[in-house]
Amino acid sequence: MPAAPPPVLAPRRKTRKIKVGKVDVGGDAPVSVQSMCTTQTTDINGTLQQIAALTAAGCDIVRVAVPTSDDALALKAIATKSQIPVIADIHFQPKYVFAAIDAGCAAVRVNPGNIRKFDDQVKEIAKAASDAGVSIRIGVNAGSLDPRLLAKYGKATAEALVESAVWEASLFEEHGFHDFKISVKHNDPVVMVRAYQLLSERGDWPLHLGVTEAGPAFQGTIKSATAFGALLSQGIGDTIRVSLSAPPVEEVKVGIQILQSLNLRPRKLEIVSCPSCGRAQVDVYTLAEKVTAGLEGLEVPLRVAVMGCVVNGPGEAREADLGVASGNGKGQIFVKGEIVKTVPEALIVETLIEEAMRIAETMEKTAEGGAPTVTVG
Ligand code: SF4
Repeated sequence: MPAAPPPVLAPRRKTRKIKVGKVDVGGDAPVSVQSMCTTQTTDINGTLQQIAALTAAGCDIVRVAVPTSDDALALKAIATKSQIPVIADIHFQPKYVFAAIDAGCAAVRVNPGNIRKFDDQVKEIAKAASDAGVSIRIGVNAGSLDPRLLAKYGKATAEALVESAVWEASLFEEHGFHDFKISVKHNDPVVMVRAYQLLSERGDWPLHLGVTEAGPAFQGTIKSATAFGALLSQGIGDTIRVSLSAPPVEEVKVGIQILQSLNLRPRKLEIVSCPSCGRAQVDVYTLAEKVTAGLEGLEVPLRVAVMGCVVNGPGEAREADLGVASGNGKGQIFVKGEIVKTVPEALIVETLIEEAMRIAETMEKTAEGGAPTVTVG
């Protein structure tokens, strides 16, 4: 009998399903992870290389900026060669929306903050997108909120972001176009969470979550994890983009980790390591770092416990697929709760990696036949 899916904190809110190329967003589709290229879009090879790296990291959908006509000209080659759907990010210039649709982009992001430039052309955009099977993201951003709403609300409040999004959505819906998702991004997680909560009460649009300008990797990771965690734990959110002042591959890693932590994606390698304390009898930080580095890229759902002493060590190590409880210059190695060997401290890392590889191989072999099992060797 197949194993029951791992528990989640709340059922996903029911949203309309749209397509971003080959990736479904909304409805019962898994929450997807997006990122955005940092290359110049005119640098086609550089952009494709970055997209390849993002694809390898697990990115589902990628966005590229289209600020100039030269960028628009580059879209065809990028959209054709990319292995994942490409979204063109367009502000101010409606003509680039049509260029992106013609170029074969999977979707186009438009910003209602610049809506007056798009105002008269929503009907044509909706028709062109509909004819080509291209979806749209209505991307409201606190930093570029419609000046009329800024004047009305005084600043980019949650209500202002939502009013902008709902108004833009109504423009597309008036023309019978429904293949769009919405984002209401703000750099303050509290405002952002409130905005998405309000928006989710107003319609069944699929929602793209993002904390805009979240900051450098450490701060941005925490802000994004906090905000996405708050929303996803209420079933809100269909696709996510972590924004970091860091290489975009890092955004993808963080996004995937957030989804795995909430059981919205199958967990892969998980290192359970203790924070260390005065009882630690080994250097837990170094041990955990070396084990993490040695197992990077492992594609199986392996839980590895690295514990500093014999207080919680044996318990955690027993719960994990593989673990070590250290003490007295030695490490007791556990596999599925059984001590399989005791090794000197100097051999803990290589023993754990060896055992992990052996278990991973067993899991891969048995994966075709059902749930992975781990044998004690
Ligand atoms: S496992 Fe041991 S060393 Fe690690 S935090 Fe707990 S008591 Fe401290």
